[in-house]
Amino acid sequence: MNKRIFIACFTTSLLAVLISVGLIFGVLFGQSEDQIFKELKSEATYIAHAVKVQGIGYIENFKGADKRITLVDSNGIVITDTSADASVLDNHLEREEIVQAMTKGSGESTRYSDTLMTKTLYYALRLDDGRILRVSATQSSVIMTLWGLVQPLILIILMAMAVSFFLSKRVSRAIVKPINNLDLENPSNNVIYDELTPLLRKMSAQKITIGQQIRDARQKQEEFRLITENMSEGLIITDAYNNVLTYNSAALKLLEIDKITSTNVLSLNRKRSFREALEKALSGERAQRTMTIEDKSYDIIATPVYEDGRIIGAVIVIVDVTEREQRDALRREFTANVSHELRTPLTSISGFAEMIKQGDMPMETVVDFSRSIYDEAQRLIGLVSDIIKITTMEEKGDDSEIEDVELFSLAEHVIGSLEPIAKKRGIQLSVEGDKCIVKGSGKIIKEIVYNLCDNAIKYNKENGKVIVTVTNGEKASIAVEDTGIGIPLAHRERIFERFYRVDKSHSKEIGGTGLGLSIVKHGVLFHNAEILLESSEGNGSKFTVIF
Ligand code: ADP
Repeated sequence: MNKRIFIACFTTSLLAVLISVGLIFGVLFGQSEDQIFKELKSEATYIAHAVKVQGIGYIENFKGADKRITLVDSNGIVITDTSADASVLDNHLEREEIVQAMTKGSGESTRYSDTLMTKTLYYALRLDDGRILRVSATQSSVIMTLWGLVQPLILIILMAMAVSFFLSKRVSRAIVKPINNLDLENPSNNVIYDELTPLLRKMSAQKITIGQQIRDARQKQEEFRLITENMSEGLIITDAYNNVLTYNSAALKLLEIDKITSTNVLSLNRKRSFREALEKALSGERAQRTMTIEDKSYDIIATPVYEDGRIIGAVIVIVDVTEREQRDALRREFTANVSHELRTPLTSISGFAEMIKQGDMPMETVVDFSRSIYDEAQRLIGLVSDIIKITTMEEKGDDSEIEDVELFSLAEHVIGSLEPIAKKRGIQLSVEGDKCIVKGSGKIIKEIVYNLCDNAIKYNKENGKVIVTVTNGEKASIAVEDTGIGIPLAHRERIFERFYRVDKSHSKEIGGTGLGLSIVKHGVLFHNAEILLESSEGNGSKFTVIF
């Protein structure tokens, strides 16, 4: 800006100086011509008078003078001339000043030499006797005059340039200085040029608008950050060229990355499923893939982002589905186990029935086989009922009715129902402790206590003991203790798994399904309770449920 103002000032002032010099020169030159004509006129008048008195000999006095005097007769023939031989001169009748003098009494004209280097000014005066007296003077032309002045002119122009340069520099600096010193933080506080006031006002208004927009944008950004940072799902947003635009810390955590070192999203994870999901999204299709990292499973959901019908990027959501995958695996395993568990008794039943069907068996064998069929069928019923219990608990557990459950009377009730089985093996059942009310599902708690007591009887020794203790302390608890075979340490972790038995054949023999403790575990989880197991091999076990 400074430079432009300087150039404008400099050229303007220089032009002004040059034009002024030119005009002054022109005016002076014109005035000098007028002056010469005046001189010629007075000289002609004075010489005319002298010629009238003294005759044409008077003209001879001017020979060699700077002015040229010519006397022409009324026919245009030169009578005498102070600068040339009159006899060789042309007839002057055609000359402009002569013609004018003849008709009007006087005339003047200017003629340039062929080379334009000089010009001659003529003044002609008609004498009383009809002759014409002409006085002329030669003057340098404008070009010649200028040429003669070239040195001072160059000097003047150089000085003008120097002065313009200096002044323009100062002027441009003086104009720009207040602009450079503008307080742009508070545009409306500046008082400089009136012409800038509307601009400064506009800047001030725009500053307020921009400030508001920045605050809004920051607030939105903060909201977005808060939302995304509190998501357990990973979020990555990319542009159409795989560059990461934004991400949340959950994404880094799930992808097991400390920090992003490259903007390329594929540097975050190079697994095929991740790449495929992204590629599909960037080609315009929503994609979902499951990816595993070590023992974790993640769903990668990639969705294209459109603007004006053009794909400008993708949103990638990473969801930890490890639990779902584990549940699915367990379910698959459970289904396989169920099929296997059902097939064994059914094969036995079918085998016994086939042999009876042949009809050539002694009666005692038929009775024996029928008993076996009955036992297997009972086992099947038990198994199916346990499967129903466990699946119902899994699917509808949350819907179970919550009520006040009194543990002591519940335990007495359970013990009462198991008494006949216990009696057969001389096992003594008892309930100890206090009355204790907990909030929960009576049906599920009964199932827990029943299965624990059933196991305590099943895995007890002949004439053993089962003691159920209800404690109403800081935390309500119910413990089932037996004097049975105990559980070896290596199996204690796994006995709550479905179909897991310490001694498979023994469990089957005594009618176990392998699902009892699994039902217990589900019930405990439903009540947000805890189950502890203490056991001593050969001496007995104690299961305690703490609510
Ligand atoms: P099951 O129907 O075979 O009893 P459970 O899930 O109830 O299945 O128990 C799993 C396994 O844990 C049993 O097969 C048994 O080996 C062991 N077990 C459970 N309760 C006891 C106990 N009170 N004493 C000894 N072993 C037990």
